[in-house]
Amino acid sequence: MSPILPGFVWASAWSGIGEGPYTLAAKIIYANNLRTRYLRKGILWRQGKGASLLDPCPTSNDEMASSLGNMLYQASLAARIPRLYKALATDREFRYCAKCISSGFQAAIAQIPGIVQCPIHGEIHRNSCIHCGASTPPYFLNNDHLPSFSCTECGSPLGGELLIDRRVDAWSTPDRLDRLDPIHTWLERINTSKDIHWMNVSEWSTTLQSPEGTRDHTRDAVFAVLRSRLLPDKTVPESNLDQKPEVFGPFVLTQGAKSSPDLTEAEYGTILRRIALPPELQKYREHFRTPSFGVAVPVGSLVPPHLHAHLIWRAQFQKVTSIYCEPYSRFDFCAVAVPQLLNMKVNRLEAKISNRRISDGILGATWNASLKIAVEWHKMQISFREVPLPEAERRWLIAVDRWANRLGCWRHRNYFPIAVIKVKDRITGQDHLYFVVA
Ligand SMILES: [Zn+2]
Ligand SMILES: [Zn+2]
Repeated sequence: MSPILPGFVWASAWSGIGEGPYTLAAKIIYANNLRTRYLRKGILWRQGKGASLLDPCPTSNDEMASSLGNMLYQASLAARIPRLYKALATDREFRYCAKCISSGFQAAIAQIPGIVQCPIHGEIHRNSCIHCGASTPPYFLNNDHLPSFSCTECGSPLGGELLIDRRVDAWSTPDRLDRLDPIHTWLERINTSKDIHWMNVSEWSTTLQSPEGTRDHTRDAVFAVLRSRLLPDKTVPESNLDQKPEVFGPFVLTQGAKSSPDLTEAEYGTILRRIALPPELQKYREHFRTPSFGVAVPVGSLVPPHLHAHLIWRAQFQKVTSIYCEPYSRFDFCAVAVPQLLNMKVNRLEAKISNRRISDGILGATWNASLKIAVEWHKMQISFREVPLPEAERRWLIAVDRWANRLGCWRHRNYFPIAVIKVKDRITGQDHLYFVVA
């Protein structure tokens, strides 16, 4: 049902199910000749930022303005999927289908980067102007910018030929709005599923760096994990991630008295031997430098990535400072190193993290993430080969600085590449743990 807005100029034909708050706000603003000042009466405005349209928060300062705020909230992704909208969707830029926007429509789900194409038209979701290439504005209401259907740089219509910002007769909804239904149903399943508990989703990062430090890769990966592993659904299009996330598990979580015993001294000894420095490292000594974060980094492309990966891997299970790495006690390995690596307190799992299979899963997932990082580093070193020496040195320093959170001890720099997901098995009632690296 399209929203009813008493007191405003509004027509029900302008809007339909699944429309997001961006185009709704644009229409109500133009049709009623409103200003930003007015919106601030009905929506919580954050100092200097305005209001993100992923979760516009209605306020009760003014009854009419609040009904507007409320309508925008009801259309937002926060209303549809409160638990995970931040992990799936972006407000850094407005994303649109050119066909949808040509009649003044944008689906709320277009803000999910994992959904590459418009489910209605099959057109790619864009984030720049077709005419001049300028980036779309943030998905925000703020003082400098009001939402519109045309480019903020060149003024051309985003949806092709016709300028429709002030053409109320041109505003309508796409014919096959029902094509949004499968995605809406799937989001509803994620939202109501009590079986899936993604424990560290807001801090989780991928091993690859997104351009300009955004979280785009991570959002794609969250979508891919949900779409392909946790709640697979063939009616929802797959993500187009180059590399599928690696999933480790399931590991059965046993609780209380049945909890598996702590790591024994012998088992911890095995782990220590696994992470010990490999002898072949000696051969490559002069190809490493140790930056201030205390974990040696290869200079040039001669060091095989698996040797570099070993250093990164080992650092996650050791006490690392700028001058030494030393092993934890068996107790601290279970109580400090592993929970901090996953950014969670042990008791949030309601089971001992030292459960052997879980420890194995964590070692495996950490190795996988370390290897991905080392391979990426190695590729970068190869790209420096052709560069003259002083410039190559400069680039190495800049790269080390940019990658410090990945190349050193992850928990020291709030970098958490291992997702922890608890899933309840509906049949047995048992909790299972998965670790994911992307
Ligand atoms: Zn479309
Ligand atoms: Zn433009």
